[in-house]
Amino acid sequence: MFKPLFIAFTIAIGFSAQSQSIIRPKLVVGIVVDQMRWDYLYRYYDRYAANGGFKRMLNQGFSCENTFIPYAPTVTACGHASIYTGSVPSINGIAGNYWYDHLLNKSVYCTEDATVATVGSNTRAGLQSPVNMLSNTICDELRLATNFKSKVIGVAIKDRGSILPAGHSANAAYWYDPVAGEWVTSTFYMNQLPAWVKAFNTKKRVDDYYKGGWSLLHPINTYAQSTADENMYEGKPLGLDAKGFPYSLSKFIGTNYGAISSTPFGNSLTAEMAKAAVINEQLGADAVTDILAVSFSSPDYIGHSFGPNSIEVEDNYLRLDKELGDFMDFLDTRVGKGQYTMFLSADHGVAHVTTFAKDNKMPAGKINLDAMVDTMNAQLKSRYGQDKVVLDITNYRVDLNLPVIKSGSLNMKEIKNYIVDYLGRQQGIAKVFDVDDMQTVPLNAKVRTMLNNGHHPNRSGQIQLILQPQWLEGLGTTGTSHGLWNPYDSHIPLVWYGWGIKQGKTNRETYMTDIASTLAALLHIQMPNGAVGDVITEAIK
Ligand code: ZN
Ligand code: ZN
Repeated sequence: MFKPLFIAFTIAIGFSAQSQSIIRPKLVVGIVVDQMRWDYLYRYYDRYAANGGFKRMLNQGFSCENTFIPYAPTVTACGHASIYTGSVPSINGIAGNYWYDHLLNKSVYCTEDATVATVGSNTRAGLQSPVNMLSNTICDELRLATNFKSKVIGVAIKDRGSILPAGHSANAAYWYDPVAGEWVTSTFYMNQLPAWVKAFNTKKRVDDYYKGGWSLLHPINTYAQSTADENMYEGKPLGLDAKGFPYSLSKFIGTNYGAISSTPFGNSLTAEMAKAAVINEQLGADAVTDILAVSFSSPDYIGHSFGPNSIEVEDNYLRLDKELGDFMDFLDTRVGKGQYTMFLSADHGVAHVTTFAKDNKMPAGKINLDAMVDTMNAQLKSRYGQDKVVLDITNYRVDLNLPVIKSGSLNMKEIKNYIVDYLGRQQGIAKVFDVDDMQTVPLNAKVRTMLNNGHHPNRSGQIQLILQPQWLEGLGTTGTSHGLWNPYDSHIPLVWYGWGIKQGKTNRETYMTDIASTLAALLHIQMPNGAVGDVITEAIK
C-alpha cells in the first residue's frame, strides 16, 4: 500500500526535474473586468451559478483576496497597462486615460497615434497604438522568449483595454468601433482585417442583441442586494425615455452602435469575438504558448451610469458569470481542461453614487474642478495679466501652463502657493500640495507611495489633490466614478485558475503589479522591462 504511492511520487519528481524541455501552458487567458470591485466576488456569490465562471475560479483556483492597485490615478488605461507591464505610471508612462504632456504641450489620449490608420472601418476609431506606453508587457516578453513564435491577441470593446495589454509586438489587438458597430484594429498591426474578423463583422451581431432587448435574468423581486429599479441615483445611457427593466434596445439598430457598451451584451459580443480569435488564430493549438488578453468593458459603462447598488450592475455580474462559465467550457473543449492558465482581475473599482451614500447618512459629495480652474485663472489673470495660467485639473493634479509662466517670468512658487491655498479651502478636498513636496508633506505612507507611483514627471500635473473619501469630481446627482487611492477604487479581484495554479487563497496583501511577475515565473520567461512587482509564490504549484 505504501510502495505504489512512493513510486508515483518519485516519478512525478523525476519528470519535472529531468524534463528535456520547458513545460508551459498552451494558452494564457487574461481577463480584465473593467470596474470590478473586489467585493462583487462575494456580494453576489450566492447567486453565481455552480457552472458559472466566478465560483469555478474561486473554488478550483487561487484567489489573492487583498490585491491592491499600488498607484493613483485608478483609471482604465493605467490599470490595463499596470496589469500587463507589472509596472506603474511613473515608469510605464501611462499616466491616465488622458494626460497633459508637458514636453509636447498638448493633451494626449493614452493610445492615440496620428501616424497610423483605421483598419476595418471608415472612422477615426483606429488611430491608436501602444506607442505612448514606455515599457513592454508580459505578452512582449513571451514573444521575445519564443523568438516571436507565441501568438498574442487583445480583444476589448475599449481600444485601451485591448491595445495596452497586448503590448508592442502583439500579432493583433481588436477593439469595437461604436460608430460602425464593428471590430477594428490599426495599421500598427496590419493593413487588412483577417477574413475571420471581416466575416464576424458581416454578421452584425449587435443588431441581434438589440432585437432581444435587456430583460432581467431572474424575477425582479430576487434582486434583493440592490436598490429598487427606477430610482433617482441612475443615469440614462439607454435613452432619456427608458423606464427601467425590461429595456427595449431595438431603437438603436442602425442609429446607435455604442449603446451596446452600456448593456451586458457588450460582454457577450466580446466573448464571441474572443472565441472566434481562439478558433481562427489557433490559439493554444500547438506546443508554443499563446496569450489571449480579454477585457470586458461593459461593466464600467454600466457601473458609471447605475452605480454599485443597482439592479443593472447585479444583473450584469450574474450574466457575466454565465458568460465566463461558457467561455471556460469552450476553452476546456478547445484547448483542454488544465492546459491553459487563466487570471481574472480588474483595472480599478468604483465609488458608490454620492447621493445614495448621502441618503444613507454617509459623508459624500461632488466637486466641480472645472469651475475651480476658471476661478483660479480669473484670479491669476488679474494678478499677472496672463490668461490660462492653469491648463486643467487632470487625474486629480493641476497642470500648470509652464511655457506661459516661464515666458512671462511669473513667480512659480507664488502661483503654486496661491493654488494650494485656494484649493485647500474648498469643501471635499482633503489635501492639496506641490508635487515637489511629495516626500515631505505629512501624508499616510500608503497614500504617498501610491501618488509617487502614479506621477510621471512629463505627463502629470504639478499640484496634487486628494479628495475626502466618497467625494468625486463632477456635477449632477446620478452616476458615479473612480480614480482615487481609496479602497473602493483600488481593491481589486485577482483570481488564478488552471495550468500551474494551486487551489486556495491568500489574505496577504498583493498588488496589481504582481500579476506580470507571477506569470513570468510561471512561464519561465523574463519579467517585463519596467516590472516592479513580486511573484505571488503561494499561487504557483
Ligand atoms: Zn476602467
Ligand atoms: Zn470607468
